[in-house]
Amino acid sequence: MSAPVIPKTQKAVIFEKNGGKLEYKDIPVPVPKANELLINVKYSGVCHTDLHAWKGDWPLPTKLPLVGGHEGAGVVVAMGENVKGWKIGDYAGIKWLNGSCMACEYCELSNESNCPDADLSGYTHDGSFQQYATADAVQAARIPAGTDLAEVAPILCAGITVYKALKSANIRAGEWVAISGACGGLGSLAIQYATAMGYRVLGIDGGEEKAKLFKELGGEIFIDFTKSKDIVGDILKATNGGAHGVINVSVSEAAIEASTRYVRANGTVVLVGLPGGAYCKSEVFSHVVRSISIVGSYVGNRADTREALDFFSRGLVKSPIVIAPLSDLPEIFDKMEKGQIVGRYVVDTSK
Ligand code: NAD
Ligand code: ZN
Repeated sequence: MSAPVIPKTQKAVIFEKNGGKLEYKDIPVPVPKANELLINVKYSGVCHTDLHAWKGDWPLPTKLPLVGGHEGAGVVVAMGENVKGWKIGDYAGIKWLNGSCMACEYCELSNESNCPDADLSGYTHDGSFQQYATADAVQAARIPAGTDLAEVAPILCAGITVYKALKSANIRAGEWVAISGACGGLGSLAIQYATAMGYRVLGIDGGEEKAKLFKELGGEIFIDFTKSKDIVGDILKATNGGAHGVINVSVSEAAIEASTRYVRANGTVVLVGLPGGAYCKSEVFSHVVRSISIVGSYVGNRADTREALDFFSRGLVKSPIVIAPLSDLPEIFDKMEKGQIVGRYVVDTSK
């Protein structure tokens, strides 16, 4: 394949300060470092993490100015001189983890996301809300040729994250998993991974549209948090004693606290959603006598990435996406803040 023509400038959404104006404008195309790919991003999912990054509501500073985005799917157009195993024209994915030291004890054990020097797309490294982005060649996701790049985009963060979280919940086939925040970006994929893994799925979210999507994606019992007067009681009853595992993907401290009460004895509460400044309160007496576990789960490693993409390629998981122009990002963030997004928005970087 002849070398693609790479322009000097490109369209991107960039902000100068947290909570500041999201500007859709021309910026320079980045130059890949020796270990990096240059990816022509075609589509990028919009994750709630991108909203946290723009608002700056986490106790971890972002780079500034920042181009957000970490669910980028595109085509390799150039690479640094040390890159091995990639060629021009390959499909590649930009994930949250965009490089780590590969020398510390966490990296040694394939827990690269826990590396103190982890580089994060759309947070400490300009991400996928631009037409050309750089990605560490070791961490970039390998997307099979012929894949629909819009549909695969949400797998690159949401899919990998919920797949790893479900593994962390230690549930067996036939047992109940409750997904709190079931019809947002992460939740709508969690329903499908959980079903494919053989679990029974109870979902908690709000509104008719979300209830409808939940059923379409194969969920069994839906609890509407805007209507239920006793969420904990309703879940204990529906699951005959509580969910064996809970995946918390809402951005609500109260919902997280409730999950410690409807998890079954010996079950596992998995913390995934990251409401800024929140605590997970669990009443100690009940925590002990019911012997529950509370664990955190943070994206996934390269093997989780390969496995999560494999479920997608085999058609076991579909992305419930709405495609919008990249220039619409401010409106998408506004809807997300209000909890109005059903499934996942994916932005087309050419518009
Ligand atoms: P989203 O906005 O698409 O979905 C959140 C959903 O939660 C919405 O459907 C909303 O209606 C629902 N919700 C709100 N209040 C609720 C309540 N009280 N009970 C039940 N549901 C409720 O967000 P997303 O993109 O799916 O991300 C969710 C969270 O996960 C964010 O905080 C994000 O930063 C975090 N995240 C964590 C990781 C990780 O590795 N741990 C990875 C990606 C995203
Ligand atoms: Zn994300």
